[in-house]
Amino acid sequence: MRSLPVPPGKCLSTEYVNSTTPMLRRCGKGHEWSTTLYLIKNKGKWCSQCSGNFPCGLSEAKEIAHSKGASADQIS
Ligand SMILES: [Zn+2]
Repeated sequence: MRSLPVPPGKCLSTEYVNSTTPMLRRCGKGHEWSTTLYLIKNKGKWCSQCSGNFPCGLSEAKEIAHSKGASADQIS
């Protein structure tokens, strides 16, 4: 399985346990929430407050949508 690109943001947790342990993160817009590395890298989940407004470039958004089964034509 290919990993999705991780959007800009910062991990606020100092201790990494494993990919399924929730960690506090801050997105590129300053929202803070708790998520797991598994959800970010394998499910493409990012900041819930930014959902639908993915804080990355269009090409990356297409890439992510494509990996979920949508074609580039459906997005553009
Ligand atoms: Zn956000």
